[in-house]
Order: sequence, then C-alpha cells, then structure tokens
Amino acid sequence: MIYLDNAATTPLDEAVLNKMLPFMRRDFGNPQSQHSAGRVAGNAVISARDKVARLLGCKSEEVYFVSGGTEAGNTALKGVCAARRKGHLIVSAIEHPALIESAKDMQKYGFEVTFLKPDCRGIVSAPSVAASIRPNTIFCAVMHANNEVGTIQPVEEIGKICKAHNVFYYCDCVQTAGVLPFPTAHCNALGISSHKFYGPRGFGAMYIKNGSEITRLISGGMQERGFRGGTLNVAAVAGLAEALERAVKDREQNNKKTAVLRDAFLKRVLTEIEGARLNGDAKLRLPSNANISFEGCAGENILFLLDLNGIAVSTGSACSAGAVSPSHVLTAMGLPPERVNSAVRFSFGKYNTEEEVESVVGVLKTVINRIRKN
Ligand code: PLP
Repeated sequence: MIYLDNAATTPLDEAVLNKMLPFMRRDFGNPQSQHSAGRVAGNAVISARDKVARLLGCKSEEVYFVSGGTEAGNTALKGVCAARRKGHLIVSAIEHPALIESAKDMQKYGFEVTFLKPDCRGIVSAPSVAASIRPNTIFCAVMHANNEVGTIQPVEEIGKICKAHNVFYYCDCVQTAGVLPFPTAHCNALGISSHKFYGPRGFGAMYIKNGSEITRLISGGMQERGFRGGTLNVAAVAGLAEALERAVKDREQNNKKTAVLRDAFLKRVLTEIEGARLNGDAKLRLPSNANISFEGCAGENILFLLDLNGIAVSTGSACSAGAVSPSHVLTAMGLPPERVNSAVRFSFGKYNTEEEVESVVGVLKTVINRIRKN
C-alpha cells in the first residue's frame, strides 16, 4: 500500500512501540498503587509528563493526559462553559467536529456561538476574531493548522487579542505537533493527539494554563490531579512522550522531506492533469498537505479507484468521512459545490518516498481519465 493519508493517522514508529511494550508486559502496575509495581508505573508517568512539559514549553502540572484530540477539544470548550455558566463562544467554522459539535451541544444549554468563517484561502483572520468578540465572550477556538487543507492560522495574533479581552483561547494543535513550534505562550490551552506523530492511537495530551477557569468533565479518582478521572494507560503515556520527543527532534528533517515530496507531487499534478486545482493557501500551509479538486470527478470515486490500486488518500477529513455531507471546511471557504465535491486530500509523512510519488502521479492520471470518460 502507498499511504498518503498521514493527516488521518500515522503508522506507529517501531522505536515508540519498543518504549510501550514493557508497560504492557512486565511493568503493568497501576500508577496510583502504593507498592513497588505501582511506583515503577508511576515514575514512568512522572518522567513522561516532565518530558511532554519540556517539549510543550509549560510546567509539568499544566500537562493532562487525555484520550486524544477529540477529548481535548471537548474538555476545553465544555470545561470553560461549565465554569462560566453562560456567555458567548467563538469557534472557527473550519475547526474539527470535536469543537464544532461541542459548541452546538452548548448552544442547547443557552450559550451563544459565533461560527467564524475563514477567507477563501482557508485562513481565519485575527481582525475577524477581534470583531466577533462581545462583552460576554468567554471562549475562542481557532486551530493551529487545519486538518483538511493544512492552512496555518495566525494563532499568535489571535492569542494576543483573546488575552487582551480576557477570553479563554483554545488552540487545537493536533495537526501541528512535531511540525510547527507549539503556541503554548499564546493560548490558555492546547491539545495534541499521539497518533498524528507516529505514536499510539486513542491517546493525547493537553496543556491547560495554571489558574484557568475551567471545570473537569470526567469525575472519578484523583488521577491527573483530580481533573480527569480514570486509570492512566501507562504504555500510551510512555509512547506519546517518546513519539513527541522524536517528532520535535526530527522536525526540520521531516518537514523538509515531506515538503520536497509534496511539492514534486503538486507540481506534476497541477501541470499534467487538466482541471486540477489546489485548495487552500499555497504558502501558509503544512508541508505535508496537498488538497486538490479535480474538475468533473467526484472525490469519492477518485478515492475508491486509488484504493483499488493500493493507494490510500482521503476526501474531506477522515474523521467525518463516514458521513456523506460535503466538507464543512471547503464549504466555509466559499468554494462552489463542484469544487468541494471533487476534492481529495493527499497527506505525506516521514515514511513516503520519491518512488511512491512517481507511482501515484501515474495512477492518478489514469484514474482521472477513466472517471472523465464515463
Ligand atoms: N483535531 C484535529 C485538527 C484533527 O485532525 C483530529 C483528528 O483527525 C482531531 C482533532 C481528533 O483527534 P483524535 O482522533 O485524537 O480524537
């Protein structure tokens, strides 16, 4: 298989797996237990938390382990709503459903929500955030980079605006962990998901600034300093810390590699396939992302035929691919339905090769010709 769906999930790095295995076998203790088996697990959690804090640029007690990007987004948005009881939320219209659906949930409880549109390049401007702030605004979510079109948002400026208005700013960093420096200093909370940087699926971490007005969602034992109950998955904790350390250490090398592959792919597709158009800003985007519309072809058909040829890609975002609704991101950017429905996301990763790019371009040309002839 040629895997060009790294924005959906990445394969587990072998070195990460090796860090996890001892906690699934020999060192299986509960980190809350008082005996020595518990202490081994507990110490592993302490050192992983310290490592993650160093990489995020925050204090260890500001790191919370969670089940992934979805829980992180829910925790931030609903946790602030629970703490403040009423108010107005700003959620960008290109956020992951974790934020958009959470905001819709809160609307049912009386919270006001502005779903803030991006421009046609897929960028949410800082002035548009400033213009949306009301006297009762309590929360704002604008992601670091979008998962469908890879566009990078002006999070530093947005963070400053939110700070000046005392608005809690949550920055979804799921697509940027190990790709861009963390905007920790500019937000009140951020979330990452380990399966996007060659770590285990179903696991993630949050930074929540000390002293934030936020209420827990998951009540239980005293895990995560009473903020998030439930026995920790120690293997996943160790895996996330190892994966994040590698991703940050190899950031430049990986970015360079994916950018070279992505650019070579893009150049060939845009020049050799008629009616192929890039979606989202050409420069302000992740080095791994190419979201392209192919005139006259349904994205689903392209995906299906590529899959038959052993090539994995995505239409819209993989997280919402089960649903038949058109991409909310491309729609919010104001693209016409034809262009939205003919979009395919190719996302490159550290294990892709030049030979794979060559091969995918060839198959893609055949597939597009075939669809257009029918
Ligand atoms: N946020 C973004 C930007 C994502 O791309 C994703 C997953 O694709 C998520 C949140 C959800 O993360 P998880 O799969 O860890 O719940």
